[in-house]
Amino acid sequence: MDKQEAKKRIEVLKKEIDENRYLYHVQDKPRVSDAVDDSLKHELAKLEEQFPELVTDDSPTQRVGGKPLDKFVKVRHSTPMISLNDVFSFDELKAWEARLIKLAGEKKIRESGFYCELKMDGLAVALIYTNGTFTLGATRGDGQVGEDVTNNLKTIESIPLGIKIKNQKSAEESPALWTASNIKIEEAELPDEFEIRGEIYLSKNDFEKLNEEQKKKGGQIYANPRNIAAGSIRQLDPSIAASRNLKFMSYQVATEIGLKNHSEEHELVEKLGFQANTNNNKLCKTIEEVNGFFVHWNKHREGLPYQIDGLVIGINDRKLFKSLGIVGKAPRAQIAFKFAAEEATSVVKNIIVQVGRTGKLTPVAILEPTVVAGSTVSRATLHNEDEINRKDIKIGDTVIIRKAGDVIPEVKEVIKRMRSGKEKKFSMPKSCPVCGGEIVKREGEVDSYCKNKNCAIVEMRQIGHFVSKGAFEIDGLGPKIIEHLITEGLIKDASDIFDLKVGDLEPLERFGEKSAQNIILAIDEKREVELDRFIYSLGIRHVGSTMAMDIAKQFGNINDFLSAKEGDFNKMYGVGDKVAQSIIEYIGDEKSQNFIKRLIEFGVKVKNYHSPVLKNKLSGKTFIVTGTLTSMTREEAHKKIIQFGGEVSASISQNTNYLIVGDEPGSKLDKAKRLGVKIISEKEFFEILK
Ligand SMILES: [Zn+2]
Repeated sequence: MDKQEAKKRIEVLKKEIDENRYLYHVQDKPRVSDAVDDSLKHELAKLEEQFPELVTDDSPTQRVGGKPLDKFVKVRHSTPMISLNDVFSFDELKAWEARLIKLAGEKKIRESGFYCELKMDGLAVALIYTNGTFTLGATRGDGQVGEDVTNNLKTIESIPLGIKIKNQKSAEESPALWTASNIKIEEAELPDEFEIRGEIYLSKNDFEKLNEEQKKKGGQIYANPRNIAAGSIRQLDPSIAASRNLKFMSYQVATEIGLKNHSEEHELVEKLGFQANTNNNKLCKTIEEVNGFFVHWNKHREGLPYQIDGLVIGINDRKLFKSLGIVGKAPRAQIAFKFAAEEATSVVKNIIVQVGRTGKLTPVAILEPTVVAGSTVSRATLHNEDEINRKDIKIGDTVIIRKAGDVIPEVKEVIKRMRSGKEKKFSMPKSCPVCGGEIVKREGEVDSYCKNKNCAIVEMRQIGHFVSKGAFEIDGLGPKIIEHLITEGLIKDASDIFDLKVGDLEPLERFGEKSAQNIILAIDEKREVELDRFIYSLGIRHVGSTMAMDIAKQFGNINDFLSAKEGDFNKMYGVGDKVAQSIIEYIGDEKSQNFIKRLIEFGVKVKNYHSPVLKNKLSGKTFIVTGTLTSMTREEAHKKIIQFGGEVSASISQNTNYLIVGDEPGSKLDKAKRLGVKIISEKEFFEILK
């Protein structure tokens, strides 16, 4: 092959390899196998070996093989690589918009709209192309001056070594390529020096793979993909960066070429063969729409192949963007809307053991309520005893709680250096905490089980009864949901319902943020409960709702009921020995005492019994009782007046309607006479009631 033929062949090979690269590393749609690609590269390398003068800087063979550097060369950026201010809530976002409106006027802001892009959790770099060839790549550094990491960036396959505007003609030639946007890029001309900025990142898969390998080698384990990206790019030896499947996502055209909107920068770089996320990003008209977009990605980001830590929200109109200026180190017109932290610390108050439908025992940490990933959490599953031992979790420990996406919160690790020495070791109970039955742990299994097959079912029925009509009557807590809550270790018995937080429910299937909130609200509404409902909810044998009402009437308040003696039931109509015994047994049992104690601890208030207003016979009438009555005490007379809709007042005035007079009345009688208040006897009072 002569030089002329070689040159032609090299061009063809380079084009094919570059398009393969683009489809594979940018579009994620490989069209040939790795072996085919390797083979093409091998042919190219051989030709270039034969004709070294034909090697160009944008040749795919130039990606690897750079020599290690002694040190990095400093690079001054053409324009500062800015940082962004953060907001964490919709309120803060609205405040940001309000500031922009104040500066630029509402009309301009509305006309521009907000370009919202996924915020890659990576390392920012600038790439400079000279006459279409990648010549210089630099880290952000302090924003003014970065480091020349060109050799390392060259190893990244999603960075094209050469860029050309792919015109309409080539789009027809290979329709799978270069179909980015409808802006007429082909009419524009790139300046000789052209700068693109973006983030170097590592996919979640590659991150996990790399950490696996590191573990096997006994090497360093990385906390997140960003650390690896940063660590790899800032290596003097490019073979390290080459060994890690790093990627590049562009977010900016740094060279001024007269584009009107920021969204067009993304469209342009995509057309030039970069990743720029136009499919996932969105132009939003209103701040409410921006928030909706944020909520969407907060929920769905787990499904992305890479990590994002929020959205970047910016004024789309570039002229307006510039005119809004810089505040501190950040532009006014752009902010980072960050996802709430997925980790938070808390203290383990207690470890309880819950029994699932299959009888499986699950230890659950009861936490000091803490906000993680935007909502309050009070419980975290500990899975099993082995897990507790492995993580060395003790009661009283300060722990890191992690809640990612739709996963139940869990204890990630114990901060052991914060221990006081008073922490208590947890061990699994010897008997079932629910039914007292025997516990088995099968050989080779990590989980323990209650041998009593009905154990969980009985508890589920109890809880079902507790929230049912006539008892606490909590809307939304159907049997399926109760089973779910038990299975996930969120409730052990009915008292736990009153300790639940929105963040505990949110990650469960079938609960969105909204329905979790609704259930918590429904629970909150029922925190104050009538005495008869309370007694009925306890599920005491032989005590139905009518019986519960009779008992409530008899005892009047919860304390009197809980300290009832067997004899107290004798005078009650319809309460036989069997019923009385069942009640006495229940209130004397330690388990039920603890249960009631926990309910009170979790803020349940049991109202004293007030007999309902019988008739409105006395409504609007005010009474005073004076002297000693014969058939009832003064208190009982007051109760009667209220029962019949009347009012009792303390002192006589012209507004008093009746004075009820008993034996030996006091000065009130004289005063009533003076004021012309109607004076009636006990007997006359009863006449009125008839
Ligand atoms: Zn059991």
